[in-house]
Amino acid sequence: MKLNEYRKKRHFGKTPEPPGPSKAGKERNGSLIYVVQKHMASHLHYDFRLEWHGVLLSWAVPKGPSLDPAVKRLAMQTEDHPVEYADFEGVIPVGQYGAGTVMLWDQGTWQADSADVDASLQQGEIKFTLYGKKLGGSWVLVRTRGPGKNASRSAWLLIKHRDRYASTKDVTGEEPRSVVSRRLLADIAQDEGGDIERASKGDPAG
Ligand code: MN
Repeated sequence: MKLNEYRKKRHFGKTPEPPGPSKAGKERNGSLIYVVQKHMASHLHYDFRLEWHGVLLSWAVPKGPSLDPAVKRLAMQTEDHPVEYADFEGVIPVGQYGAGTVMLWDQGTWQADSADVDASLQQGEIKFTLYGKKLGGSWVLVRTRGPGKNASRSAWLLIKHRDRYASTKDVTGEEPRSVVSRRLLADIAQDEGGDIERASKGDPAG
């Protein structure tokens, strides 16, 4: 997995996003990073990322994750991101790729249920357990189309498995703040010179 596509899309003199990796090929011992970044770009979406082989595998989930096992959420696979991206919260300037406000909506670690993660990814069905602050328990990502010509653009579904973390609670609506700074999108935009009005469209009304 390479970061070529990630780098090609960005101008690191102009965006505060990390070029990464700072330590090439460094595999940290122990647990793998899981992060969800709420991103008010041209459209609101939640970037769901799982660390694997030294990068963050990434999916854009337009409606965000649901705790309800009856709900399947579309997750479009996007380019791999550097592991350093897991700490990024801030504003991507106007004119840059993904321009808008980024919030660290959830953070933690993850563990695959299967022994052969690469085979599961290849087959388009990966079951895993999340240890986040907002999301936990067992989940699955299932590829619905593709890989086709452009495997990095394939469509997947993100689904919660039935366990004690499952519920009908509207987790994106009821827990709209950053897990690291407790800020709303509008607060982040205000603090970091972004478009406050636009960012606030991704926050709960009122
Ligand atoms: Mn995004």
